[in-house]
Amino acid sequence: MEPATVNSPADFALRKKRIFEWIYEEILDLEFFPEDVEIRKEELDELCTRLGHPRYCPHGKEIPIGQCCREKRVSPEPLFLPLDEIPIGEEVRVVFLPLHHPTLAQKLFSVGLYSGTKVRIVMRNPATILQVEEAQIAVDDTLLSEVYVRRKESGRLGQILRKFSRNA
Ligand SMILES: [Zn+2]
Repeated sequence: MEPATVNSPADFALRKKRIFEWIYEEILDLEFFPEDVEIRKEELDELCTRLGHPRYCPHGKEIPIGQCCREKRVSPEPLFLPLDEIPIGEEVRVVFLPLHHPTLAQKLFSVGLYSGTKVRIVMRNPATILQVEEAQIAVDDTLLSEVYVRRKESGRLGQILRKFSRNA
C-alpha cells in the first residue's frame, strides 16, 4: 500500500511531528522534541531528504510522504561523511568514531582523535598523514572510512535545525 501523502494542513502537521520525533528520539535518543515549530513545506522536504526519507516515527506510525519521498530525492550534502571522502586540505570536525570497534577507537583516541576534534588530511600518498589539532600523524588508510566527520558548512539543514532550537 502506498503510504499516506500530504494533502492537507493536518497531514503536514503530522508529517512534521513524526519527522521531528524521528530526529529527536531515534537519532538523538532524547525524549523531548520541540512541539510548536514553524517550518515551510520545502524546508521539511529538505530535512526529510537529508535524513533519507524516514518512513516511520519511533512509535511505528507511518510518516506521511512528501514530494521529496515521491521523487526519491538524494541530498547533494549529506549531514555526515566518512573522512576518506573529504578532499585533501579541508578542515573538518569528527562526529562519529568506530566505537563499536574498541581497539580501533582506542587507537584513534591515543593519537588525539576524539569526537569534536578538528582534522585535516595532509596527504594520501605514499602514506596517509592527518593533521590532528597541532600534531601530524600517520594513519592506516583504511581507518579513514570508519571516521565520520562534518564539514564546516553544515548547509541548510543546520540552519533549519538552529531555527528550531531557537523556537523550542
Ligand atoms: Zn522525503
